[in-house]
Amino acid sequence: MRLLIQNGYIIDPAQGINAGRNLLLEDGRVVGISGHGDSVPEGSEVFDATGLIVAPGFIDMHVHLREPGQEYKETIRSGAAAAVAGGFTTVCAMPNTNPLNDNAAVTRFVIEQAERAGLASVFPIGAITKNSEGTELAEMGEMKDAGIVAVSDDGRPVPTAGMMRRAMEYARGFDLPIIDHCEDKSLARGGVMHEGHWSLVLGMRGMPAAAEEVDAERNCLLAELTGARLHLAHVSTGGAIEAVRRAKHKGLPVTCEAAPHHWTLTDEAVQDYDTNTKMSPPLRSRAHLEAIIEGLRDGTIDAIASDHAPHHADEKALEYDQAPFGIVGLETTVGLAMQRLVNEGVISLERLVELCATHPARILNLGDRGSLRAQARADVTIIDPEMSWTFDVARSKSKSRNTPFHGYAFRGGVVATIVAGRILHLHPDYTRLREGRHQPAMSEARA
Ligand SMILES: [Zn+2]
Ligand SMILES: [Zn+2]
Repeated sequence: MRLLIQNGYIIDPAQGINAGRNLLLEDGRVVGISGHGDSVPEGSEVFDATGLIVAPGFIDMHVHLREPGQEYKETIRSGAAAAVAGGFTTVCAMPNTNPLNDNAAVTRFVIEQAERAGLASVFPIGAITKNSEGTELAEMGEMKDAGIVAVSDDGRPVPTAGMMRRAMEYARGFDLPIIDHCEDKSLARGGVMHEGHWSLVLGMRGMPAAAEEVDAERNCLLAELTGARLHLAHVSTGGAIEAVRRAKHKGLPVTCEAAPHHWTLTDEAVQDYDTNTKMSPPLRSRAHLEAIIEGLRDGTIDAIASDHAPHHADEKALEYDQAPFGIVGLETTVGLAMQRLVNEGVISLERLVELCATHPARILNLGDRGSLRAQARADVTIIDPEMSWTFDVARSKSKSRNTPFHGYAFRGGVVATIVAGRILHLHPDYTRLREGRHQPAMSEARA
């Protein structure tokens, strides 16, 4: 099947393309890019992308899909459906399922479930240590052969520098990036929010920024020592970003990601005791939020990742200090990036595509993704930078509803998500496109 995405504006930083062009897809692959005036190839369906941004499929390198083990929160199918609805063609699933993904059998299970769902691609991330207990390294080689793209003990960070050094040396041998959730548990000591003005006012136990920064510094030093590729998950403090900035200046292979809630909300939001403001790392102070914005602006932050973390309503209905950490994010990430970053002039649309596609593909070595070059997988995210929409969590594809962003209004959103050449999501308001898509190619060509 041939699909011509016509009259759109293609942004593909990997090829240095930022121009009005047509994009031709066939049999799940990109055929090529042509001028707006060029004729429509025979037998093509046409997708009218006038006024829209056509980008390589977005990749969310940090999600929790809860299967196996907690299918009541999310399944691989429901998570992949939420991904597609949010504009993501590929997601990477963290290993903290039950059983945990610390072996090839679970890795294969995740991949098979994702293939069965036939929605967004799901690449598993394997555990660094067995059962993420921080004591014995997991079989990274076997998991890599089975399909993992990175290793992480997200949520249960590797506790000691010695173990992290061994993990980095081991991962380096398999050319796997280490993704670390930076949190020194001895400093975080059971905190439920950021330690600062608001934890004092609310009388809640806080985790200091230093709990994240000590680990971020440690990991950067160890990346220098071992030469391993290091990626810091969801950086949330000025010091963690500064550690990455210094590592980059030294030329180390260190990268990091930011999550939308950390550039959108501060710890002030906790004062309503809404457990949908409880995540780890926590919402920080205004100064840390500004540091994230600066890191996104100056290029220190490489990727945007949702840290999509579904939880059942009953769990989030507990007291603040008892409720689990995390919020869903797959369907609000692009909106929050458009609203708070692009529309406010922090980043350009080109940079948005780098953060959501070009860089995640590069960090994870996903060779045929993250670009619209010929022969790449036909994964495409189409965005209307002017679309006004409101997020209604009741219509979410996720099985969980834990978000502080219900009712948020956005300018700029996802019109269509195309996975391996198939349009799996089309925004219902875009009937114009649906008609365009079904127009016979030859009449288009003659027109
Ligand atoms: Zn984490
Ligand atoms: Zn996470």
